[in-house]
Amino acid sequence: MIIVLQPGASEAQIDHVIERVRGLGFDAHLSRGTYRTIIGVIGDETKLQAAPLAAIAGVAQVLPILPPFKLASSEAHPEPSVVNVRGVKIGGGNLGMIAGPCAIESRERLDEIATAVKAAGANILRGGAFKPRTSPYAFQGLGVEGLRILREVGDKHGLPVVTEVMDPRQIEVVDEYADMIQIGARNMQNFSLLTEVGRTNKPVLLKRGMSSTVKDLLMSAEYVLSQGNSQVVLCERGIKSFDNETRNLYDVAAVPACRKLSHLPIIVDPSHATGRPDLIPPCALAGVAAGADGVHIEVHNCPEEAMSDGPQALLPAQYAEVAKQIRAIAAVLGKTISSLEK
Ligand code: PEP
Ligand code: MN
Repeated sequence: MIIVLQPGASEAQIDHVIERVRGLGFDAHLSRGTYRTIIGVIGDETKLQAAPLAAIAGVAQVLPILPPFKLASSEAHPEPSVVNVRGVKIGGGNLGMIAGPCAIESRERLDEIATAVKAAGANILRGGAFKPRTSPYAFQGLGVEGLRILREVGDKHGLPVVTEVMDPRQIEVVDEYADMIQIGARNMQNFSLLTEVGRTNKPVLLKRGMSSTVKDLLMSAEYVLSQGNSQVVLCERGIKSFDNETRNLYDVAAVPACRKLSHLPIIVDPSHATGRPDLIPPCALAGVAAGADGVHIEVHNCPEEAMSDGPQALLPAQYAEVAKQIRAIAAVLGKTISSLEK
């Protein structure tokens, strides 16, 4: 950590900073430049808080050397991590193809959609049972009945299943039925929820909050990792912007940015990022080309009857087409798409 002093810092203030650093059990190395004086703090930075030091009179800035997301950082783990979702791998050259409806609506409907996405090459089935809806009067999901349907249909088609958890009280039952637990954008900074999913041993799909930075996303992943659960997959799903041409602003640069900062796999969700079926295929391809470890797409066989996110759903044939194109890009990049049969 480096402490930068204010230009007019007095000798007494400098001495006080050094005393404080030594009092905390660290060594201090004073360096006087022509314009600025800095103090290098020598010792294990992970055991030191920057904020209290920044509050000392005469201090202009405290600059940590290490990223605050130490477990998620690529420094901690230079090789890309591979997350294993009941046999389907995501990361380290393996592409996750997650597809399914926004919400589980009935056994028949999920079965039809699962048949189609499986045939198109999806390797993980998604479907919400607990839905985070803006309106309390909108369809909230089938709850535990939805989880049962998801498990049954996933097993029938040999697809691991992922579903969202919104509340720590739902974790036990979701853990019982799902192979991967999704934390939605609205809950990315629900720290008690993150801590609780960190105590399970299920892979976690962590979606980026719509007003969160890449570093916020990595700090949220750190919450899960800090509890001992190392199976985290990040997901870029669009952030708020001033432009209402698309539902959110698809931040494709977040993919290589995360890749540089972290060893965790990162996938893209062009469905929620754009909200437009016509833009989902090109944005899915852009994500894979940018290095994403997977693509998450909402598919529905009758969008006009969908109980949530119908307008952004791809039809099965449209999904099959983009999945084919994704495979072509994956092949160029030397990526593998694993499935349970292999
Ligand atoms: C979803 O996956 O259906 C969902 C609600 O996503 P997000 O949390 O990204 O809005
Ligand atoms: Mn949705």
